[in-house]
Amino acid sequence: MKAVITRKMPDSIVALLAECCDVYMWPDEHEPISRHMLMEQMADADALFTNVTDRIDREVLDAAPRLKVISTMAVGFNNIDVAEATRRGIPVGHTPEVLTEAVADLTFALLLATARRVVEAMAFIREDKWKAWGPMLLTGQTVHGATLGIIGMGRIGEGVARRARGLGMNILYCNRSRKEAAERALEAAYCHLDELLKRSDYVVMLAPSTKETTRMIGAREFSLMKPNAIFINTARGTNVDEAAMIEALKAGQLRGAGLDVFETEPIRPDHPLCALDNVVLLPHIGSATVETRLKMAEIAALNIIAGLKNEPLPYIVNPEVNV
Ligand code: NAP
Repeated sequence: MKAVITRKMPDSIVALLAECCDVYMWPDEHEPISRHMLMEQMADADALFTNVTDRIDREVLDAAPRLKVISTMAVGFNNIDVAEATRRGIPVGHTPEVLTEAVADLTFALLLATARRVVEAMAFIREDKWKAWGPMLLTGQTVHGATLGIIGMGRIGEGVARRARGLGMNILYCNRSRKEAAERALEAAYCHLDELLKRSDYVVMLAPSTKETTRMIGAREFSLMKPNAIFINTARGTNVDEAAMIEALKAGQLRGAGLDVFETEPIRPDHPLCALDNVVLLPHIGSATVETRLKMAEIAALNIIAGLKNEPLPYIVNPEVNV
């Protein structure tokens, strides 16, 4: 049997897979596999080890007549046509839980960096603009005691709420369904999206990318936010109307934004967001700690091994096809 890995992985992960199958691995760590090479490799592939940069659509599945399992090294799986995989009886694995705390940490890093203008302040020193201490120099916004609105109170959202409690923040959240245990444990209040937007000083997007969440935050939603509001997105760029966000940032309708994800990735230095001072932009590194990425890669490999052995996947997206 053969597994295709679409990005260079550490030796330990390749060795784990090599115990049960042949492995083709795209040799570049930074550049994604070309579409052409992916299609070519899928012709005799039994397993696919993928990541957020590969579009696994019907065309790829058509090119893979032997495919028994798909495994993505991520919790989000919006890049995979899961409905089509399910129709073909192919289980799709992902890597939830192991990345929760790392992404919650990074979400808070973005919130603090944006609120306290950390990146701008560092540039101020580098550009030799620091002449003396100033009473209102680079003044930002208070985080302690402020109101935090979490859109998508799932695993990572709860992790962010746990951190917010330590900073004495008032926590609001919205989901499609209420989570009463989390409300009690985290002293979080459930509210409608519009109310959350009107009342929050910090709005954090942590809902998955779905049809329903596509551009769920746009011009109307930004206009409902407080004038001092800071928007943080560590979920997926497609959840936000980026052009509307840029307009709101330029107009001062939104105080700042901390973003780890974008409508189209990667963004380049000539992207309009890069011209703004009131943003902190990161290259999709939410889960990027060494320990977390190694655990994610290991779980992705274990999902593949289970799929090749016709055993239940440890973490499956479409349990209806699990055996
Ligand atoms: P999760 O546990 O499934 O949580 C997602 C939450 O979103 C759920 O509580 C869900 O609750 C809520 N939700 C779903 N649809 C919604 C809607 N239309 N409106 C409001 N809330 C909605 O997932 P997670 O592990 O916390 O991960 C969340 C997302 O973070 C992932 O899907 C991924 O896209 C992103 N992520 C990004 C990075 C990064 O590197 N930046 C890393 C990991 C994850 P209901 O079902 O009740 O609505």
